[in-house]
Amino acid sequence: MSADLDQDVVTRLRQVRSEIDRAARDAGRKPSAVTLVAVSKTYFADAIEPVLEDGQRIFGENRVQESQAKWPDLKARFPDVELHLIGPLQSNKAKEAVALFDVIETVDRPSIAEALAKEFSKTDRRPKLYVQVNTGEEAQKAGIAPQEADAFLRRCRDEWHLPIEGLMCIPPVDEPPSAHFGLLAKIAARNGLKTLSMGMSADFEAAIQMGATHVRVGSAIFGHRA
Ligand SMILES: *Cc1c(COP(=O)(O)O)cnc(C)c1O
Repeated sequence: MSADLDQDVVTRLRQVRSEIDRAARDAGRKPSAVTLVAVSKTYFADAIEPVLEDGQRIFGENRVQESQAKWPDLKARFPDVELHLIGPLQSNKAKEAVALFDVIETVDRPSIAEALAKEFSKTDRRPKLYVQVNTGEEAQKAGIAPQEADAFLRRCRDEWHLPIEGLMCIPPVDEPPSAHFGLLAKIAARNGLKTLSMGMSADFEAAIQMGATHVRVGSAIFGHRA
């Protein structure tokens, strides 16, 4: 990748950071209360490196296999990287996911909770866990239904002994996102959870307004994916 393109990525990264800071201040929140998860899926190491060089350390990926191919080398060079799994997890990939990721944002059904609990019994690694909620109740989308979230969170705690730290959602593309962000915040509040992963390139400012602690921003930093 040419120096010019590197510059573009870093310029966009800094732009996104300043927009996050401004959105936080506008909402009466501290900029430090909002964490940028830079979503690097589909991008190779040469696009990710300039972002690492500029100090970004928290990244999101949606596929276990793709991440295994590109992140071990980058993690060796930047050991304080924090890697978030933001795509669906298959039970048969739980071992690999626990080995590589620092945060798994997509715990969304009993079979995954069971697979993670089983993996935790075999290893000392303890990625943080978020539950994904399908706030729009879309058939094609992953996530626990909003009306099942409280019971699922209880089972995660009591049955599988999984410490769930937060919630994550991806609102429907064709609806105003704020109602979905508000619903996620409400479910989190009544379950005593403080971490809210919500908001992407198109809507992170609205998410910050509604209390997002983590925004997952890809294309606004790396450019449009092929
Ligand atoms: C790809 C993806 C993002 C980033 O989307 P952009 O619109 O590129 O910012 C955020 N969250 C999830 C779950 C994703 O799959």
